[in-house]
Amino acid sequence: MGTVQTVMGPVSSTELGLVLTHEHVMVDFAGAEVTGPHRWDRAEVVGIMLPYLTAIARQGVQTLVECTPAYLGRDVELLQQLSAASGLKIITNTGFYKAPHLPAWVFGLEAPELAQRWIAEFETGIEGTLVRPGFIKIAVNPGELEPIQRVIVAAATITALHTGLPIIAHTASAEAAHESLDLVAAGGLDPARYVIAHADQIGRDAAPGQPEWDEMIAAHEALLQRGAWLAYDGIGWSPVARHVALVTEMLERGYESQLLISQDAGWYHVGEPAGGSVQPMTALLDEFVPALRSAGVNSRQLETLLVGNPSRLLAVAQAAGDRPFGAAVAPH
Ligand SMILES: [Zn+2]
Repeated sequence: MGTVQTVMGPVSSTELGLVLTHEHVMVDFAGAEVTGPHRWDRAEVVGIMLPYLTAIARQGVQTLVECTPAYLGRDVELLQQLSAASGLKIITNTGFYKAPHLPAWVFGLEAPELAQRWIAEFETGIEGTLVRPGFIKIAVNPGELEPIQRVIVAAATITALHTGLPIIAHTASAEAAHESLDLVAAGGLDPARYVIAHADQIGRDAAPGQPEWDEMIAAHEALLQRGAWLAYDGIGWSPVARHVALVTEMLERGYESQLLISQDAGWYHVGEPAGGSVQPMTALLDEFVPALRSAGVNSRQLETLLVGNPSRLLAVAQAAGDRPFGAAVAPH
């Protein structure tokens, strides 16, 4: 139990209810040198995205973890408006994505300097607002980590140690996941504060019953045995049956307490007419959960995946989460 920062202020981690742990309201892929609030009309984005949020609120979703980082379309005042209008708790982040969504000044910084900027967002608010991040969002490239992504993982580790925030890392490769966990461990952070997002893309071409499926399961287990979370967050983008097979197998193997499920959906695309093609966020409860039930997953397990696990991940100890605005940042 602890505190979770939503865009409307802190709440108890016991109040989150049913959580979608990886979704996007808006994304701007224009690049760090180009993107900014001048590129979108907040009222238009609210008009287009509110029905999608209202739809999941009607399904019983109470909290949405918005995974768009700075320089990729993060707009915390937009999220506040949508939270107020939909009744959803929305959680935003500090952290950075990867090139070309990194500002030039990031290159050349050491990890502690970068962490200082992210810690400052937690301590004093994001971009002049009183909105504080509820997690750290980063991305890593597939394969061997590029030098800048190593700095970003190390900076996220420092930020997590200082703030108590968990890290959600866009990761679609086992090699990158292991190297990231090496850095997390070297920095002294419990891997239980680290989420390997898009883990369902590791071995994504394997189908149940093939030898490749067993290899994929082994690769996922190797990461779980290191203590990290695996996020199966691409639900709705591929046939539901594969995700059902994946989740049920990992539940049978005893990893219930390390799994997150979500959809990586939404996506008002800045620069496209009316936001382009928006992916609804309703498939998880409309299609996936009934399919899991049919496959034998019980209500207690579903509650763990959608309520208990997100709450445990996002909870920040009172001492860190309740630190007042403007508190001095202690040297790490
Ligand atoms: Zn995402």
